[in-house]
Amino acid sequence: MIIEDDPPIRRVLRHALESDFDRVLEAGTAAAGIDLVASEQPALVVLDLGLPDAEGVEVCRELRAWCVAPILILSARHSESEKVTLLDAGADDYITKPFSTVELQARVRALLRRASVGNAPSLRIEFGPYVMDLAGRTLRRDGEIVHLTPIEWELLRTLAVNAGRTLTHTQLFGAVWAGRRYGDAQQYLRTHIANLRRKIEDDVLDPRYVVTEPGIGYRFAGTS
Ligand code: CA
Repeated sequence: MIIEDDPPIRRVLRHALESDFDRVLEAGTAAAGIDLVASEQPALVVLDLGLPDAEGVEVCRELRAWCVAPILILSARHSESEKVTLLDAGADDYITKPFSTVELQARVRALLRRASVGNAPSLRIEFGPYVMDLAGRTLRRDGEIVHLTPIEWELLRTLAVNAGRTLTHTQLFGAVWAGRRYGDAQQYLRTHIANLRRKIEDDVLDPRYVVTEPGIGYRFAGTS
């Protein structure tokens, strides 16, 4: 389901999505989009931020209140604080215009994969040479245990369970340090993410699995 008021961009989106979906619905306003999501219950919503009749973040909040489908935000703006606000309002990921069709398709597939994993909880997550056993709380590389601290494990688990989704510093910190307060959440995360990367990434300067979204947070790209 595409909610975007700009017809040429809607066409590009439709073409990009038609390879993966039998049916692509379109709406040109927030009001029409919300109605259509409610009546058609799409598998995924692509939501443009710049709509004529409502603020994107409000549409996102409204949808998230009752819609379980992943929401991918399409943004022409680049403000990091705005992206953080959107992710905290329940968006699953965002992509900035101009976007490549391949990038859009990859993000959409990652979101759908995560959504289907959420429906049938898996106890194993595989990425590269790694296998995470969520019940046993172990990470193995080619069968060998990789020793993680409890915090590193919690960080990796939270990111991997939400693969494809950008988690804000606030979301990630809240998930791992539930309720506890420390001075500087971002600095704390940076330290532990750096330690985790040293253990699982082949090249910590060009991480493959735990990707930084500058100024926003982190995203697990291992299973996409
Ligand atoms: Ca627009």
